[in-house]
Amino acid sequence: MNIKSFFLVSIVSLFPFFSLSALELRSPKEPSVVEVPSVPAPSADLDSLKAEYYEIYSALKVYSNVAYSARQDSPVFLEVSASGQYLRGRLEAVGMLIERKTGFSREVLDSGLTRKNGEISRGVLAELSSVFGFSRGNEPHSMEMRGVPIKLGYCQINYVKNSVPFLVQYDGFLKKGEVILTFDDGPGQLTEEVSSAMKDAGASSVFFVLGSKLGPNGKELVKRTALDGHSVAVHGYNHATGSGKPFTALSTEETLDQLGGVSASIAAAVGRKPVFFRPPYGIISPEALKAIDIKLGLVPVGWTIDTLDWSTKDPEELFLKTTSLIKQRGKGIVLMHDIHSQSRTAAKRLVKWLAENGYKVVSPERMTAAYKGE
Ligand SMILES: [Zn+2]
Repeated sequence: MNIKSFFLVSIVSLFPFFSLSALELRSPKEPSVVEVPSVPAPSADLDSLKAEYYEIYSALKVYSNVAYSARQDSPVFLEVSASGQYLRGRLEAVGMLIERKTGFSREVLDSGLTRKNGEISRGVLAELSSVFGFSRGNEPHSMEMRGVPIKLGYCQINYVKNSVPFLVQYDGFLKKGEVILTFDDGPGQLTEEVSSAMKDAGASSVFFVLGSKLGPNGKELVKRTALDGHSVAVHGYNHATGSGKPFTALSTEETLDQLGGVSASIAAAVGRKPVFFRPPYGIISPEALKAIDIKLGLVPVGWTIDTLDWSTKDPEELFLKTTSLIKQRGKGIVLMHDIHSQSRTAAKRLVKWLAENGYKVVSPERMTAAYKGE
């Protein structure tokens, strides 16, 4: 699907949309007796959860297709990439709920996913609009960006669809063949494996962690990540609010409070203050970003190569797409998530591929130097 048809889909899907797959999945044995309205029958509840799962999946496919065909620095890309990241999180959450309720595996659920291209339902569009606040206006010319400089040659904030401020990173300080690897949203079950594989490959990386995952076990995980020679950095407490909204949903004061707490948790766990900060979805206001630098001393980090690792569960596909993106650009700050199994597997192959193909994973400290103008 190209960008043009994405807009077409967006517009078409503003009209009431009825999911065929949800109908097909509905059990024919569904009770015809009307239950007490305020207490839905468990089966009906499960049916609606399944319908929701397929509805989100369907939209995820559209965003994934558009993201892969758009230029990574275009407004469309920033919009669909943030939306896709959010929808992957929603899909995982609904999938887990279904698993808990039925005991059947995600493989069974995913085997019902037969359609190659999806649609974006009106409900999903409304949800994304409420989460991110993209202003309406679907004509391409209304999506031009205005920018606010933060640090010349290092990063700036671009407003997408006039209302959503995205941190846009530059990598002019990297030479051709130089790569910085970053992993977001941990720590989790896969962090240790990713961390030690990167260490073995001599690839000192940045792990942007969530404070909500820094319980006793999480603290132990980030401590080991730091001992492996990586930089443990601030992402947020949640992602960024409890309901998955970006930091633009909070005041600068609230954002500073939240990030100050996460920074202190990391410092307590690894024994030194974190250096870097990356806003969830890359969304943050210029005012908040400047305050985070001044009050918390954190260096902002975006990315220049988004692997879109939320878009597929297939590590082979992810590996091929990632290496193709790296070859195209020739260098860059690579965004992955150490919470997805496909990312874990692809990252382990990626570091070997980088070494065999003349790329060099350079120290994240290069970003500090570039930001501070050294
Ligand atoms: Zn994130």
